[in-house]
Amino acid sequence: MIWPAVDAIKQQISLLDYLQTQNWQPARRISRGRLMGVCPLHLDHKPSFLVDPLKNLFYCYGCGHGGDLIRFVELYHQVSFGEAMALLRRSRCGSLLSDVARFYQIQLHRHPEAAAYLEQRGIHQPQVIEEFAMGYAPGRCLRHWLITLGYSLGELQQAGLVNAAGLDSFSHRIVFPLEANLYGRAIGNAAPHRFLPGGKGGLYGWERVNHYSEVILVEGLFDLVVLWQAGFRNATCALGSHLNTRQLRQLCDGVPRTVYLAFDSDANGSGQQTALRLSRRLRQQGATALRVQLPDGHDPNSFFVDGGDGRQFQQLLERALP
Ligand SMILES: [Zn+2]
Repeated sequence: MIWPAVDAIKQQISLLDYLQTQNWQPARRISRGRLMGVCPLHLDHKPSFLVDPLKNLFYCYGCGHGGDLIRFVELYHQVSFGEAMALLRRSRCGSLLSDVARFYQIQLHRHPEAAAYLEQRGIHQPQVIEEFAMGYAPGRCLRHWLITLGYSLGELQQAGLVNAAGLDSFSHRIVFPLEANLYGRAIGNAAPHRFLPGGKGGLYGWERVNHYSEVILVEGLFDLVVLWQAGFRNATCALGSHLNTRQLRQLCDGVPRTVYLAFDSDANGSGQQTALRLSRRLRQQGATALRVQLPDGHDPNSFFVDGGDGRQFQQLLERALP
C-alpha cells in the first residue's frame, strides 16, 4: 500500500530540490551531471557528498551513507521511515502548518487559561507572544476549522494534527511553530512536551543568532522566551537537553564563537551532567563552550520567574565554567 505513496513523493520532490531547501550548495560539478559538496550528514570539512540529480541518489565518501530522498530525510532529521514520509508530505503542504499556527494564535487571546499560564511562566510582553508566534490549542476545534478550509481528514491525520479517533492531537497546550513542526507545552497534567511526528529540526531560530560571537543555548522554549524578554537576543534552544546531529553541526560550523550552556540545574544533577558532556563534545569540535551555573533547582525560566533579572543573569554568564 505504501509504495505508490513513496513513488508519488519522490516524483513530486527531487533530492536536489530538497537538499537546496536545507541550504545545501554543491561545491563542484563532476562527470555526468553529478555534484559534489560538503556532507550534511556528518561534520565534513572537504566535499565528500556526491549527488546524482538524474538518478535522485546520494552517496558520501566520508561517512559512507547513501540512498534516495527518503533515506536522506531519515538520516538528516534522525527519524523513522514513516516519519520521514510525514515530514516530506508536510514540506509540500507548509501552508497547512501555517494555517494551524494562525488558528492557534487567535485562540490564545480567547482563552484566559492560556494567558494565565503564560503569566505563571513569566511571560508578560505582548510583543514576545507575537515574536514567537505563540498560540494556544484548546482541543476539539482545530479539525472542524481545517475541514472548513478544505483540508481532508486524511491529510490532517497524516500530519499528526488529528489522531486515529478523529480528535485534535494538541489539547490544552501552548503552541510554538517550529521550522517544520509544532511544539505544544501542556498547561494541565498531560505529558508536558509534544511534537507532531517528525524531527524537532535544528536549533530554534539559529539563522537569527548564528552571527553572534556569544550564543546562549537553553533546553526549552520557555527558557528562551524569558531570556529574549530580558533583552538577550543571542539565545537559541535545543528543544531538549539532547542535541541531534544537525544541531551539533550548527554549533560546530567552524565560526569562532562562545557557546554558553544554560541547562536546567535539576536536583539530581542530570542537566549539569548533560551540559558537561556537551561542553566536552563541543570543545573536541573546536568550539568554545562554557557552563552557566544556575541556582539549585532552577532553569533559566524559573530563574526569571523567581525575580532574577537580566543583570543577574549576565553575572552568571560571566562566572560560567569551562
Ligand atoms: Zn557524510
